Amino acid sequence: MDTRAPESQPPQPGAGNVPVLRLDVALQLLRQSGQTAPQSPAGSQAWLQEIVDGLVDLSSRDALTGLSNRRTFELALAREIDRVARSGEPALLLTLDIDHFKRVNDTYGHAAGDEVIRAVGVALADTVRPMDLVARMGGEEFSIVLPNCPAAFGPQVAERIRARVSQTPVTVAPGQTVCVTVSVGGAFAPQWVRTTPRLWMDRADVQLYRAKSGGRDRSCLEATAVSLVSAEEKGLLFASSIFQDLP
Ligand code: GH3
Ligand code: MG
Ligand code: MG
Repeated sequence: MDTRAPESQPPQPGAGNVPVLRLDVALQLLRQSGQTAPQSPAGSQAWLQEIVDGLVDLSSRDALTGLSNRRTFELALAREIDRVARSGEPALLLTLDIDHFKRVNDTYGHAAGDEVIRAVGVALADTVRPMDLVARMGGEEFSIVLPNCPAAFGPQVAERIRARVSQTPVTVAPGQTVCVTVSVGGAFAPQWVRTTPRLWMDRADVQLYRAKSGGRDRSCLEATAVSLVSAEEKGLLFASSIFQDLP
């Protein structure tokens, strides 16, 4: 069956700007991304659904590691912020960056670097609970959101993840392995403020910067969530609370 859709036409006056899904392009994209071809009979509703599901999956995952991508992660963070604001449960955000990664590329080549990024992704996904979400944010940077993670467990969790990466040798060529380390920054969602994904990530980044400047291969977490709530987050509290209506 010819799966090519007719060439998309420029919008016709009076026809409305009805969007056209180019099935041939969609199928080509899915093929190139390594996804299996839709299994249902071509042209059926189930077949179309498989294509749509495949496209959704493609737009939410990082191609190299198969982990969630930045867009998916930021949506998950927004949902978690909502949950924390309503339930008061603690949630931890970790941000991780491979140390001296440029050296890996320079020494072993870009393909080896890709292999290291993939292996770190596997190690991270393997170390967390099923309810935690690991994402590749770009380059050699990853983030993890851990719902319902008590503050007292935060440092242990971050250390376990850091140690796991440093103990994972990666085969980059026959008989050649590389070990990398990560620096980890962590911040809890403030429980009395509805923060934003950006502000939460900024606070984790401050801690990542501390871990880097402290010598790398270490984790740094905010001492307490409340004392480090930023002025902007405090603004969010007063902008959205009942205090606004007080005289
Ligand atoms: P630091 O410890 O301060 O993080 O040092 P670094 O060398 O890890 O950091 P820097 O930002 O200098 O280098 C990151 C390198 O990651 C530079 C870039 O070429 C490389 N990189 C980014 N994305 C990819 C990728 O998808 N694959 C590979 N192989 N390399 C990548
Ligand atoms: Mg980096
Ligand atoms: Mg780095």
